Amino acid sequence: MASRKPLVAGNWKLNGSLELLNEMAPELKAVAGEDVDVALFVPALLVASSAQQGVITGIQTVSEYESGAYTGEIQASLAKELGASFALVGHSERRHIFGESNEDVAAKFAMAQQQGLTPVLCVGETEQQREQNETESVISAQIDAVIEKLGVAALSQSVIAYEPVWAIGTGKTASPEQAQQVHQFIRAKIASLDSEIAQRLLILYGGSVNEQNSSDLFAQADIDGGLIGGASLKKDAFISICESA
Ligand code: PGA
Repeated sequence: MASRKPLVAGNWKLNGSLELLNEMAPELKAVAGEDVDVALFVPALLVASSAQQGVITGIQTVSEYESGAYTGEIQASLAKELGASFALVGHSERRHIFGESNEDVAAKFAMAQQQGLTPVLCVGETEQQREQNETESVISAQIDAVIEKLGVAALSQSVIAYEPVWAIGTGKTASPEQAQQVHQFIRAKIASLDSEIAQRLLILYGGSVNEQNSSDLFAQADIDGGLIGGASLKKDAFISICESA
């Protein structure tokens, strides 16, 4: 089996400050190493500062457009130029608050990759979809939109983050077994198309990860690290989550 180096990424959403970044950057660099990569998805305006301080940096969304008359959009090429190496695409808040469809997300995935950013494709079901046994079909459709547009090979330069919508910011974490089941489903789905890509693919778990539950989640066979929202704004909590990977 391919060995996968875990990745723990903080997603600051519309939070954080330059002051918090300056305080956290040296410690994040210190905890990252041979056993774990640590990244921060900072608000767009902090990308340059974060990258300059040597933190592996990501942007939280990118425009599907390369350039032009699209006021307010975030240019993937400029994020890359400022030092970002990752881009989140399809975070559930983008899907649900800003109405991004699977096709929109696939277009953003394509643009991120075209500009040299590694897309982190976020997928996950709502509580209602889980209750109606639609978890696998929802996640399949989210991943298939990318595969249909770009082919399975595009996934070899990407990361997937499984984030059940009902667990994001709610304090309700998926149990390690529940999460593992979905991670295994995702890896098997991709393995049915290309087993090599599936074995190498990092699949992160996100949704109310904290310093108490992270080690049990990260111990699961198909969980390769985490995407951490609320707890990534607290230095000590985030460091201990990184250490548990
Ligand atoms: P949370 O957010 O850790 O606060 O639940 C995770 C995310 O939205 O990426």
